[in-house]
Amino acid sequence: MFLDESWAFEKSDCSSPMEVDMLEVERYEILVIGSGEAGKHVTWTFAQAGHRTAVVERKYIGGSCPNIACLPSKNVIRSAKANWFARHGAQYGIQSGPVSTDMKGVLNRKRKMVEGEVQAHLDRFKATGAELVRGEARFVAPKTVEVQLNEGGPRMITGDRVFLDLGSRAAIPDIPGLAAARPMTHVEALDRAWPATRRRGRS
Ligand SMILES: Cc1cc2nc3c(=O)[nH]c(=O)nc-3n(C[C@H](O)[C@H](O)[C@H](O)COP(=O)(O)OP(=O)(O)OC[C@H]3O[C@@H](n4cnc5c(N)ncnc54)[C@H](O)[C@@H]3O)c2cc1C
Repeated sequence: MFLDESWAFEKSDCSSPMEVDMLEVERYEILVIGSGEAGKHVTWTFAQAGHRTAVVERKYIGGSCPNIACLPSKNVIRSAKANWFARHGAQYGIQSGPVSTDMKGVLNRKRKMVEGEVQAHLDRFKATGAELVRGEARFVAPKTVEVQLNEGGPRMITGDRVFLDLGSRAAIPDIPGLAAARPMTHVEALDRAWPATRRRGRS
């Protein structure tokens, strides 16, 4: 989403105008909120073209895809496939002993991949000259956000052009009893620490 001059600012959105007044406002030509798929490419493209560009990201460098969605899910599914092939080796003329899944190992593999992805994104932000601001942004004036920095403290940033790539979040449908059962969404499923190794025989 691109915000232009016609974007309407609701005064009630600004919760602490005093605080806002006290901070120096830093101006960028391009301000992107959210470093997901669209956000990062907009950031890289404008920065590479020589525009003073900042992107604000509160948690997932590069967005959901490399951190908690597309890539880690396929990484874990790959391990499941490896387990399946090991257990069904005989069908392919392969003999093997009992097979077990070490979820710690599976998730370590996934974690290393995610870490590599995050580093590659950080390198790209740096190489393009874009500034990655790590924190949560909220609008306090037209085209102006206050960022609560992850490392602590606020920053006030305004953009001549502002792009929003805020993504989506997992929702628990309103089905009786479902929320009480505390189901995992993809975030918990791909991020949780698994306890013990589970052994499975061949089938
Ligand atoms: C399990 C799973 C598997 C998937 N597999 C595939 C696949 O194989 N192929 C495919 O094409 N798609 C897949 N998807 C869908 C894909 O992940 C999403 O469509 C895509 O990541 C959405 O990108 P986005 O940029 O819109 O949002 P996101 O990637 O969610 O980016 C938004 C970013 O904005 C940040 N943000 C939000 N609000 C603020 C704020 N106020 N201040 C600062 N930062 C903020 C968030 O932290 C986030 O990093 C999968 C999704 C899931 C859940």
